[in-house]
Amino acid sequence: MTGRLDGRIALVTGASRGIGCELAELLAGEGAHVYCVARTVGGLEELDDRIKAASGSATLVPLDLLDFEGIDRLGAAIYERHGKLDVFVANAGMLGVLSPIGHIEAKTFEKTMATNVTSVWRQIRSFDPLLRRSDAGRAILMSSGAAHSAKAYWSLYAATKASVEALAKSWANETQKTALRVNSVNPGATRTKMRAQAMPGEDPETLPSAREVAAKIVPLALPDLAETGHLFDVRKGRFLTYHNPD
Ligand code: NDP
Repeated sequence: MTGRLDGRIALVTGASRGIGCELAELLAGEGAHVYCVARTVGGLEELDDRIKAASGSATLVPLDLLDFEGIDRLGAAIYERHGKLDVFVANAGMLGVLSPIGHIEAKTFEKTMATNVTSVWRQIRSFDPLLRRSDAGRAILMSSGAAHSAKAYWSLYAATKASVEALAKSWANETQKTALRVNSVNPGATRTKMRAQAMPGEDPETLPSAREVAAKIVPLALPDLAETGHLFDVRKGRFLTYHNPD
């Protein structure tokens, strides 16, 4: 069987559960060798079992993405082993807390910013040279509708996701003349642990599964993708084009 990512190297953060776990499995199913990054070893091992059962291949990377030197070491290791990275999915993230803006504890604010923003920038810094060495580098940064709606009590999470979109857009502008394509994604409400934490009263069965959502993100990883610098809205099934003021 031939896959659309045969011979390609992918890296997915937050691969121990939820959207990242399903996306990692789907990319492996397309033939990519997938670096699966998260802290929970059990979740990574279950994913590895599923990938291997389907004759795919993966490297498990148990790593806390707040270990910034660890991210640099990972980039160096991938360079040593493959000389490039074809697909990078910055999916790992945390909700932080839903709270009146003045009541957010400083340590919660700082940890959520560090996980959702600083770490993503460190990942970009480490992987950008590898992605540029691919003939079809694809970067997918996970955002959220919260980046735009910024509802009451969602300020912390919303601010992190607005930052992610700004990083993605600016990175795309910097790399426009290269083979690299950089886009952010709004997956929409999805049946995962994070969503249950945000909306404990909601019936999860009313939401699309992480598998269904991940399947709609796969095309952003493929070599034939043309778009860069846009936000892909999973629920709408299309890219939303940002306004470039100048
Ligand atoms: P989950 O909470 O189910 O999964 C989050 C993943 O991120 C886990 O694999 C977790 O792994 C990993 N992670 C978190 N912190 C770290 C860390 N410090 N180091 C390494 N890995 C870490 O989330 P979802 O699948 O729901 O969300 C995936 C992405 O989609 C997130 O960026 C989220 O903001 C976004 N999103 C989700 C929506 C939803 O409705 N579910 C809606 C909009 C956006 P571990 O704990 O093992 O380290």
